[in-house]
Amino acid sequence: MRKPIMAGNWKLNKTPNETIVFVEEIKPLLAGVDDVEIVICPPFTSINVATYLTKNTNIKVGAQNLYWEKSGAFTGEVSGEMLKELGCDYVIIGHSERRQYFGETDRTVNKKILSAFAAGLIPIVCVGETLQERAAGRIEQVISTQIREGLKGLNAREHGKIIIAYEPVWAIGTGQTATPEQANAAHMLIRKLLTEILGEAAQAVRIQYGGSVKPDNVKELLAQPDIDGALIGGAALKADSFEKLVKFGR
Ligand code: PEP
Repeated sequence: MRKPIMAGNWKLNKTPNETIVFVEEIKPLLAGVDDVEIVICPPFTSINVATYLTKNTNIKVGAQNLYWEKSGAFTGEVSGEMLKELGCDYVIIGHSERRQYFGETDRTVNKKILSAFAAGLIPIVCVGETLQERAAGRIEQVISTQIREGLKGLNAREHGKIIIAYEPVWAIGTGQTATPEQANAAHMLIRKLLTEILGEAAQAVRIQYGGSVKPDNVKELLAQPDIDGALIGGAALKADSFEKLVKFGR
């Protein structure tokens, strides 16, 4: 049984003060939820306050990015060790916005995944095709390259804990969601690829869906057998909406 994992990707939203307001609002709303893993991913500047306020609760904290070196002359970068010391458990890697605007490639994604594990963080690795790639019938090729290149050097015993987020680029922030069947087909493909890379451990890997997940579509998406959670942008920013998403099964 794979425990569902619901993660909010805040992107470039919420100052530290706004983070305090959100966390204090969401904590009592989610108290006692233990059948779903709950993660919030604030910007770097809010991580400290988020981990402090969620200590000893059922809410975990992730970062949205990291750099693969531990330290050195890399102005503006943050290492996995720094995030771990702040109390992070997760880190999003290879989000399509980072691939599109910040030049991330499968090679940098691979380095980031390995360094996240080395720092004791669990990577949430984003993959997904653009609308053009889907229209050209290239979904399988695109996802396969992202997974094979991105996960190079992983071995099942150490890294079966990885989380994959299937996020079709055309569905992110557009209000256009993949149908549950479209999403599940991609998730099945990803699990097949993971089985080739990780063997039996692939059965335990959680694959999240991301792309305009909202309280009114979450239930049917999560009802699909290979969808094990969601990575949520816009709808994770308000406490009442995030509560409904986390409690999708109730
Ligand atoms: C995301 O940023 O990962 C995302 C899926 O965004 P949204 O839910 O807003 O589409």
